[in-house]
Amino acid sequence: MDVTALFGSNVFNDSVMRSSLPKEVYKSLKKTIETGATLDTSIAGPVAQAMKDWAVSKGATHYTHWFQPLTNLTAEKHDSFIEPAEGSKVIMQLSGKSLIIGESDASSFPSGGSRATFAARGYTAWDPTSPAFVKEGTLYIPTIFVSYKGETLDKKSPLLRSMTALDKSAKRILKLFGIECNKVSTTVGPEQEYFLIDEEVYNKRKDLYLTGRTLFGALPTRGQELEDHYFGTLKTRVAEYMRDLDETLWSYGILSKTKHNEVAPAQHEMAPIYATTNIAVDTNQLTMELMKKVARKHGLVCLLHEKPFEGVNGSGKHNNWSMSTDTGLNLLDPGEEPEHNSLFMLVLAAIVEAVDEYQGILRASVASAANDHRLGADEAPPAIISVYLGDQLGALVDAIVNGFDYVPVKAVPGSIGVPESPIFPMDATDRNRTSPFAFTGNKFEFRMLGSAFSVADPNIVINTIVADTFAKFADELEKAEDFERARDELIARKFKEHYRIIFNYDGYGPEWEPEAARRGLLNNKNTADAVAVAFEEKNIDVFIRQGVYTRAEAIARANIQLENYVKIINIEAKTTAEMARQDIFPAVSDYVATLCSNVAAKSVIDLPCESEKTVAKSLALCNEEMMKAVSALERDLSQMPSDVKEASQKMAHVILPEMNAVRAAADKMEAICAKDYWPYPSYTDLLYSVK
Ligand code: ADP
Ligand code: MG
Repeated sequence: MDVTALFGSNVFNDSVMRSSLPKEVYKSLKKTIETGATLDTSIAGPVAQAMKDWAVSKGATHYTHWFQPLTNLTAEKHDSFIEPAEGSKVIMQLSGKSLIIGESDASSFPSGGSRATFAARGYTAWDPTSPAFVKEGTLYIPTIFVSYKGETLDKKSPLLRSMTALDKSAKRILKLFGIECNKVSTTVGPEQEYFLIDEEVYNKRKDLYLTGRTLFGALPTRGQELEDHYFGTLKTRVAEYMRDLDETLWSYGILSKTKHNEVAPAQHEMAPIYATTNIAVDTNQLTMELMKKVARKHGLVCLLHEKPFEGVNGSGKHNNWSMSTDTGLNLLDPGEEPEHNSLFMLVLAAIVEAVDEYQGILRASVASAANDHRLGADEAPPAIISVYLGDQLGALVDAIVNGFDYVPVKAVPGSIGVPESPIFPMDATDRNRTSPFAFTGNKFEFRMLGSAFSVADPNIVINTIVADTFAKFADELEKAEDFERARDELIARKFKEHYRIIFNYDGYGPEWEPEAARRGLLNNKNTADAVAVAFEEKNIDVFIRQGVYTRAEAIARANIQLENYVKIINIEAKTTAEMARQDIFPAVSDYVATLCSNVAAKSVIDLPCESEKTVAKSLALCNEEMMKAVSALERDLSQMPSDVKEASQKMAHVILPEMNAVRAAADKMEAICAKDYWPYPSYTDLLYSVK
């Protein structure tokens, strides 16, 4: 396998562009891609033609404007290249106009009330900064999606706006330090967790294929307690899947780098090398899609749901985030002596302020029905946002805040005491896996994302709030007479003001919740409460100030998130009721009947049948209890308030507990019901299905 030849072979990338475009066209396009200069539309024709020729040579017959509506998925509609030609023939064509702009019916995508349904026109517009690619016979053109009136209807346009905002403010900060550059870009490396289970077993679980998670299931006798799955050797079938996945990802120019088993049985991870944020977002969307598709080729199903199984870890996504200039300076690189790196300390202070001030929207950006099952469940960071700086920076910030002299914490050379082993450089700081927003050497790692999330949402928030804080800092420092004094004073003041958000200890520990409450930090445990915060004026204004959302767009997005939460729990609740009524109740009833007739038969010749009686009685009682819970659930589901905020509260506080009551009764029965009678594969069947 020649990986270097395979890599990017399905992508209309820089080298293809360079060789297939007229020189002037290439130069102009490159300028747009690299500096964000407005696209010269006169080049659209030649670019479209080169793209089409290349795509056709790769077997493509169609093209699509690929976009990211306000779901977590991507959308596509395929048009063929054919145009009628003389002699009843066709030619293959892609015009400049078709490349640049497409029209799409916007009315069937979520809009959160920002667009009336009769105003259905939507437009997709080419995003030249993200490369086009060929997949399954179609040329995919990355686009943004806006309504007839120019409201954004996707995740890509606000993401690009947030990157522009950050570029603008960061350059103001750099200028104060005498650093000139053309562009500051944000970079993201999303680590992606997933589960793999056997397709045949999956197909027997209605809850999994309808909702993505198990709504029932007694805990297996073996969970993750042996701690032997994390980094364990790969099962052959899994290894074959991972190899196929890597090759597929590489062919799409995705920098798949690391793969390993995760903590829970059947759980795994893939981490790519980081890229500029909009590319990272696009490639992560594509990665999630390909993970699922490649799995099917192997008779497997890839689950991206945040909590497919109770009792074992769920799946998240770590969003490694940083900022760097086109000249190669990483703004989050502390260097050897951060105490003498005032640019770094100022950037750090800005991030600490941004995260503290806007902890509410940061938390809201990762809120979903599925992720609610993870955050705060001892496997993922709590629902409380805090910042981890590590020993070295933690000590430095402590010294600044308290006015002490800083005694540098230096990385020491380590040795394991075996003469043959090399001396290895130790990191200056240990890892802290329990922190939601952790500094990890030259980047921040935001760890609250769910595995199925589009990474666009949290990055829109991070970029916007950091851009806004940079702008505030720049406003103050640009006016200062003595820059250095003003700078140092600002750094110290900001760390003091926002000291409460810094937490360098165990985020899973029981002490943290009350401590965070004392510090006045938010702790919104469910989506209904977390998203409510996004409607607050301050949290809308920051998006308006940075030109990322209009007021209507910000409100629409929060509404969509709540609507989505309500819809998902509604589907789960209906599925819970249906499975209980149609499958579990009759199965248990049959088994009880069998036990009873066995008792009757055995009694004829006086055989002992206490166990049959005990089990039959327990099951009969539990089955009644479950059906009562089902009735209560159905009653409350039929009386949902029409207001989305009220409905979301009812879902969180009434419907979910009622679903749990149905489940609790069913799971108790599963544990004592004969396997042949139970209508679904068990957790053991699911989690150990890949042999
Ligand atoms: P770990 O988190 O397991 O220690 P690494 O630190 O090697 O692993 O990297 C985790 C992820 O962070 C990878 O996707 C990597 O490419 C990404 N990453 C590294 N540097 C940066 C950066 N400057 N900006 C964004 N992501 C980065
Ligand atoms: Mg990591």
